[in-house]
This record gives sequence, C-alpha cells and structure tokens, in this order.
Amino acid sequence: MTKERRHVSCQLAVVGTGLAGFAAAVFAGNRALDTALTGNTGALAYTTGYLDLLGAMDGGGPPLDDPWQALQTLQATQPEHPLCRLSPASIHAAFTEFTSFLGSAGLNYSPPGRRNETVLTPVGTLKKTLCVPSTMAPGTTALTDKKPCLVVDFHGLKGFSARQVVANLGGSWPVLSAARLVFPGMEHGEIYPEVMARSLETAATRAHLAELLREVAGDVTTVGLPAILGIHRPDRVRAELEKLSGLRIFEIPTMPPAVPGIRLRELLEQVLPQRGTTLIPQQKIKTLSFEKDAVRLDLADNYGPIVIEAQAVILATGRFLSGGLAADPNGIREPLLDLPVSQPGSRADWFREGYTDRRGHPINRAGLSVDDSCRPLTAEGRPFDRRLFCAGIILANQDWIRSRCGAGVAIASAYRSVEQVRQLLGD
Ligand SMILES: Cc1cc2nc3c(=O)[nH]c(=O)nc-3n(C[C@H](O)[C@H](O)[C@H](O)COP(=O)(O)OP(=O)(O)OC[C@H]3O[C@@H](n4cnc5c(N)ncnc54)[C@H](O)[C@@H]3O)c2cc1C
Repeated sequence: MTKERRHVSCQLAVVGTGLAGFAAAVFAGNRALDTALTGNTGALAYTTGYLDLLGAMDGGGPPLDDPWQALQTLQATQPEHPLCRLSPASIHAAFTEFTSFLGSAGLNYSPPGRRNETVLTPVGTLKKTLCVPSTMAPGTTALTDKKPCLVVDFHGLKGFSARQVVANLGGSWPVLSAARLVFPGMEHGEIYPEVMARSLETAATRAHLAELLREVAGDVTTVGLPAILGIHRPDRVRAELEKLSGLRIFEIPTMPPAVPGIRLRELLEQVLPQRGTTLIPQQKIKTLSFEKDAVRLDLADNYGPIVIEAQAVILATGRFLSGGLAADPNGIREPLLDLPVSQPGSRADWFREGYTDRRGHPINRAGLSVDDSCRPLTAEGRPFDRRLFCAGIILANQDWIRSRCGAGVAIASAYRSVEQVRQLLGD
C-alpha cells in the first residue's frame, strides 16, 4: 500500500531534540515563530539536569566561581568559542528565558545567578554549574552549611552508591552518613531510576518510602536521595515526601541514562506542542535541500513520508553520540549536508597520547565553523545558505566536557540563532 505524503509548512524547522533544539523551539515559540521540531532520542537523557554555563577553562585550572568574569577571559583568549558570539547580558537573558519557561511548565530551576553554584555529582565529587533543579537545590544549601546529612541508596540500584558519595565528600562534609534501603515494591533483582521515579508518582509508594526514610534517618533531618523523585512534577513529589517524612529531602544526580534528562525531554515534548510547536518526535531528517522558495526537509514515520517546507532551518544535531558528526578513517563528516567540519589535520592528531592530558584531545573541539550569526560556513568561509543556522555542541572550537559548558553552548547558540532567524524573516 502506498502511504500518503504529508506536508508541514512553517517559518522555522529545528533539526534535533537535544537541549539546543528544544531551547531553539522554546525561544522561537516565545517570539511567535511558526516552528516544526524533529529529532530522536539524543544525549538529553544523559544529562545530570544541571544547566552549566562555564565551569572551567579549557586546559585545566581551578573550577570557576564567576562564569561571567570567565566569559570575558574567553573573549580575550578564545574569541572563536561559541559562547563569544553573544554578550554576557544576552547569555543571561537566554538562561533566564529558558529556566522561566521550564518553571512555567512545572519544572522549577534556580534562575541564573551572579556566581556558579557548587553541586554534587553522581559519585560525590563537586562541580560548578549555573542553574540547579529545585529538587537538588537543598543539597547545595546543606553542603554549604555542612549540615548533618544522610545519603540513601537502594538494594538493586546500580550506578549510585551512598557509601561512595560519603567517602568522596567526607573530607569537606564531615557529618555525612550512608544507608541502604529496599525500595517499596522492588525487593528483588536490579532496579532502575526511571521505574522508581514513575513509581513515586503514586501516593502509596511515597507513603511507604517516607516511612522507611523516617525510620532510618534517626536524629538526622536532611536526606539525600538519588534523582528518582518522579518524572512529572518532581517538585510536588519532593514536597509531599518531605511532608510525609518530616525530613528535608534533596536529589543527587545518578549515572546516565538519568531521570533529570528524561524529565526535561518528556516535559518539553508535552508542553511545546500545547504552545504551538509542530513536533515530529523520534524521527530523523533524511535529506535537507535548499530550494528557491523554501528549505525542504524529508523524513518518514510509521504513517509514511513527511515533507517539511520552512523558510529557515536551525541545525542542532549534536556531535558523535547523537549523529550530528560522524567519523571514519578519512576524517570527520557532517552527514546531513556534508558541511565542512573544522577538525585536526589528520587522524593521527585526533587524540593526545595521555588519556588524561590536561590540554584535552583535539577531536573534542571538532565541529562546524560559523559566522557571527551562527550560520555554518563553506570551505571558502562564506555562509552555506542565508537560511541555515546552527546551535549546540555541533559547533566547533569548544570542548564542552572539559569546560563544563554543555547547556551554555546549547542555550546561548539557540538564542542567537533564533534572534537571527527572526531578523531574516522580518527582513
Ligand atoms: C553523560 C552526560 C552528562 C551531561 N551532563 C551535563 C551537565 O551536567 N550539565 C550540562 O549543562 N550539560 C550536560 N550534558 C550535555 C547536554 O546534555 C547536551 O548534550 C549538550 O547541552 C548538547 O546538546 P545538543 O542539543 O547540542 O546536542 P544533543 O543533546 O546531542 O542533541 C542532538 C539531537 O539531534 C538529533 N539528531 C541528530 N541527527 C539528526 C537528524 N538527521 N535529524 C533529526 N535529528 C537529529 C539527535 O537525535 C538529538 O536529539 C551532559 C551530556 C552527557 C552525554
């Protein structure tokens, strides 16, 4: 049976449903741009939930307390870095707009402050970030105040160990202890954070867990749990668990795939269509062609082929993990449009000899070179097409893992790209 081709006509097509693609759809929706968003599961489910702006400078150095000051250093030392395409004021506006949107949709974050927060990692080390989910924020306060605190893990839960967290933090947070519980209704075998989180959305599981926490906490009034406090409305799950147990409760991120990223994805996939975005989830664009009157994007889902015709496109397809870049023995490619990729001269230069070399590995700075408007450039240095923009970690000249700027690059470049799209369409 031949399936009928469906057509979507829009002002802006966003390719990619990672943090950059979602942020672009949020900014476009707020500016009343008629937007279509496509992409399948990417790296979002891997994130801790923290929104980092800039936590360290490339090449080592201490963790950064003041990311705004550090942006000025970046301007002077790495002007090609994607965070240097915007003023600090615009980056602040972008973080404020994005976290406000999440808050209005029911997922609260701390607004961007003047300084980075110090937060816990899944293994109990510390890192710097800008915006913290409300479910994790009391942990930051307890850490600052060095309050007596109990960290709890669960039989059968892999990748999160309360004893490991306590062992790593013990030096800087002496009144910390660990306990292990059986999660209600999950007495046997391996258990998973996502399943636990969905279970805590039921009142019976919350009541049972609150009782167990009360018993094990003794005199301690603050308890850290792995990030399992519900997929939807986690702030409410946390508040109810606090009320039932009489304890102050906070979340600590777990190893990926983790609940905070799944939360972000499910929330944005639910709310964006309610606010006017055309979402075609879990599908990849197969071809993208620039025609005279429109940019044409082809994809297909279970019901058959779909054609999107847009006046502008934002490419936010990530790096290797999500398929935005592909590597073979001959080099690194951008698979959708075969855009030139800024990369080391030869494969022999991709990695340094020492895995932990403080300078990082050159391959981690590969990506697309863009102009000041976030338009990808041809080999000759001209914009590939005036209707094509680019956002997120597919951008070259940044090593987001080492400088802890994943969300920063995604949110800032999405903001810049949407502003430029608006200007183009206005023109
Ligand atoms: C383990 C881990 C931990 C992290 N922790 C943090 C953290 O603590 N703080 C922080 O700020 N950031 C963190 N990040 C980074 C963050 O999650 C994002 O990866 C980052 O911000 C980049 O987002 P992105 O949207 O550019 O790319 P990605 O998240 O990689 O998204 C790219 C998207 O493009 C889609 N795509 C690719 N090709 C196509 C195509 N042809 N058609 C349609 N769609 C396509 C993919 O399916 C995917 O949805 C972490 C990431 C990882 C992996």
